[in-house]
Amino acid sequence: MVKGAEVVIIGGGIIGSSIAYYLAKEGCEDVVILEREYPSWGATGRCGAGIRQQWGTEMNCRLAKGSVDLFKDLSAELDYDIEFAQGGYLVLATSQTQLEQYRRNVSLQNSLGIPSKIVTPQEAKEIVPILRTDGLPGAAYCPTDGHANPFKTNLAYLRAAQRLGVSFYKFTEAKGIEMKGGRVRGVLTSQGRIETARVVNAAGGYSAQIGKMAGLEIPTYSERHQIMVTEPLDHLFDPMVISFTSGLYCQQVPPGSILMGMGDPDEPHSHDLSSSWQFLQKMAREALKILPILRDIRVVRQWAGLYNKTPDAQPILGQAEKLEGFYMAVGFSGHGFMIAPMVSLILARLLMGREPPISVERLSLERFERGELVIEPSVVG
Ligand SMILES: Cc1cc2nc3c(=O)[nH]c(=O)nc-3n(C[C@H](O)[C@H](O)[C@H](O)COP(=O)(O)OP(=O)(O)OC[C@H]3O[C@@H](n4cnc5c(N)ncnc54)[C@H](O)[C@@H]3O)c2cc1C
Repeated sequence: MVKGAEVVIIGGGIIGSSIAYYLAKEGCEDVVILEREYPSWGATGRCGAGIRQQWGTEMNCRLAKGSVDLFKDLSAELDYDIEFAQGGYLVLATSQTQLEQYRRNVSLQNSLGIPSKIVTPQEAKEIVPILRTDGLPGAAYCPTDGHANPFKTNLAYLRAAQRLGVSFYKFTEAKGIEMKGGRVRGVLTSQGRIETARVVNAAGGYSAQIGKMAGLEIPTYSERHQIMVTEPLDHLFDPMVISFTSGLYCQQVPPGSILMGMGDPDEPHSHDLSSSWQFLQKMAREALKILPILRDIRVVRQWAGLYNKTPDAQPILGQAEKLEGFYMAVGFSGHGFMIAPMVSLILARLLMGREPPISVERLSLERFERGELVIEPSVVG
């Protein structure tokens, strides 16, 4: 194990790996990633991997569109097929009030170059022929939203980072952070000590624990979210279909399985990764309301992962004001995969003392103390 590094990144998921890649690309020569397990063990390997640009705040629209612009060329740039496909996102409205919100979102999105639009129930059915549209007031649709393979994207970033000189240590746990005079001095790991002045907390569901190692309270918590997958079927529809009302999302993914998930408002804060039959029941009931054709289809798999959440369901990005050298890219809720490319490019620029392509000052840790929460109307709970 190396004795020192310019930057130590804790976590080898999509966020840690992509920050390492962009850091190395920006010219940082001495980057180390510590991963307690293996790449994609965390939320990255357990996620829906949907990529949506239909947000309700300008900052999130910019982060998401900037990421799609990067996703488009990522397979070529990283020399690894990440299976990025732009099948669109169909966002169902369940009331006229919600549809009005979508109209406002669409006009903001269009002003930022995102080609979303409002569609009638009839048009929604043309996009997803098996959709039940009774009682549907309308929906929002963006054809350039999409999906990628999360394992491959994680690995693609990691391998490209390693080619640029990044050191990756799997099965290596960060156990402590040495601080002196409010500054980072080193990271203690299960394999020894690494001297460094900068550490990045990219530990997903364990971000609060990493904060504590540096004496910092980070208001993130983890919550189990489950997914189930059906047997493969012939091609039925392309987009991710979602509802902000029920929290349901559902997409047909290679090789034809329907992948679906939804949150549970009663889920306690925990690191529980077990699968429950209650989820299977509830998920199946909700999915059949909008896709009744799935009634006799078999479920072949289910699993659980952690949303790492903050009080406003928006991430915390950047350096802690009170701890020099302690950076965070945490608290992504259910949307850390889709914005990873742009977020990580921004983090890399901040770590290099360079101007980021998009300002993320509003996502500082200190916004919670100041009571300046980011209110995003289009988040999956
Ligand atoms: C069921 C589900 C569905 C989702 N669907 C989507 C979606 O459709 N689209 C989307 O954009 N996002 C989705 N998300 C969210 C997305 O998965 C996450 O926001 C994203 O993967 C976070 O990436 P990460 O690298 O920060 O975290 P992770 O992938 O969790 O990586 C963190 C890593 O840190 C490691 N680690 C922790 N502690 C230590 C330590 N002390 N030392 C060393 N290593 C440590 C862990 O082992 C882990 O591998 C979903 C999440 C879940 C759970």
